[in-house]
Amino acid sequence: MEHDCLVAGAGIWGCTLARRLAEAGRRVLVWEARAAVGGNVRCETDAETGIEIHIYGSHIFHTHDRAVWDFVQRFIEFNGYQHKVLATYKGKVYHLPLGLTLINKFFGVELRPDEVKEFMADESHSSAIFDAFFRGYTSKQWGKPPEEIDPSIIKRVPVRDNYDTNYYNDYWQGIPSDGYNSLFDRLLDHQNITIECNRAFSLSELPDIPTYYSGPLDRLFDYKFGALPWRSLRFEMEKLPLADFQGTSVMNYTEASVPYTRIHEFKHYHPEKKDVMATPKTVICREYPRHWEPGDEPYYPIVTPESTALLDKYREEARRYPNLVVGGRLGGYRYLDMDNAMSAALEVPIDAVCGG
Ligand SMILES: Cc1cc2nc3c(=O)[nH]c(=O)nc-3n(C[C@H](O)[C@H](O)[C@H](O)COP(=O)(O)OP(=O)(O)OC[C@H]3O[C@@H](n4cnc5c(N)ncnc54)[C@H](O)[C@@H]3O)c2cc1C
Repeated sequence: MEHDCLVAGAGIWGCTLARRLAEAGRRVLVWEARAAVGGNVRCETDAETGIEIHIYGSHIFHTHDRAVWDFVQRFIEFNGYQHKVLATYKGKVYHLPLGLTLINKFFGVELRPDEVKEFMADESHSSAIFDAFFRGYTSKQWGKPPEEIDPSIIKRVPVRDNYDTNYYNDYWQGIPSDGYNSLFDRLLDHQNITIECNRAFSLSELPDIPTYYSGPLDRLFDYKFGALPWRSLRFEMEKLPLADFQGTSVMNYTEASVPYTRIHEFKHYHPEKKDVMATPKTVICREYPRHWEPGDEPYYPIVTPESTALLDKYREEARRYPNLVVGGRLGGYRYLDMDNAMSAALEVPIDAVCGG
């Protein structure tokens, strides 16, 4: 093989690593099982309206990691989008997260910042909030009956004693001005990188060069100890003859009786694109959580003592291959935001594996 290393899986973890390896002078071969690179951050542009569609669910880049921010900005610019999440409950719209805006509207009061803590310490208030905004949503998300959702969750939900409705607390956030796909195209645009799509890696073809794998860990070993459990999602896209369907990018539906958890409306991620905002059509997507079986798209790991023990077995197995580095959300069997996946890839000690 005329390459120095193989990167199997071209999501954010694999593409970041491929770029680092290439810049370190390695000739990198990238294999991606899907028809295109980008993993679950891959988007499609609707040809008629120019709307960027997040085909695996809404993705907002946010971080307070300086190394990640400096790295990602070498490749793309962000549009300054600030994420807000709203929730519809019994036909009324509230601002998440849990803070003064939501609490005051829900209870019809005018609390001041120094009154929030005591108000929410009252069991009847916290239970009412839990029942309205967390019980139904969490039961849909994890496929459990609402009665089985533990009310103690509410104690772990941070309560803001102010009117700040920004969803994230990170220093930096936004959406790539030229779209997410441009990030992957630019990361991989290097003379030392060769890309092959529709090319799935399997253990039987492990080469004797360093190999960086970010597909599912259990699948790599043919599920020999059993499947690591995931929660899956179904996305239902719809194009509507309306300029604006819901006035915001993400609307949660918190009642258990509504079968989906949220509706995404993608044009709101690019308020700076006045021509796209002005089109008399919009694309929305209803998100339905669902049971996962091997072969389905894995989205959220179901972390339990049993799955953690299974993960340990697979990790032990992977350690038997000194040339193999396993990472990313699927390889690590953990939920990672994009900045975490990028940071993890920036921290992989490439010299140790590549032999300096
Ligand atoms: C619904 C949802 C919404 C999210 N929203 C956000 C958000 O708003 N902000 C945020 O920061 N993060 C968000 N995330 C997290 C984000 O999707 C992940 O951080 C990111 O996808 C991790 O990248 P990755 O490279 O680890 O994995 P992936 O993106 O899954 O990439 C892995 C790649 O490996 C390929 N592959 C698998 N097996 C093989 C094989 N055998 N050979 C070759 N290739 C293979 C896959 O096809 C895939 O392209 C969200 C996640 C979900 C589930």
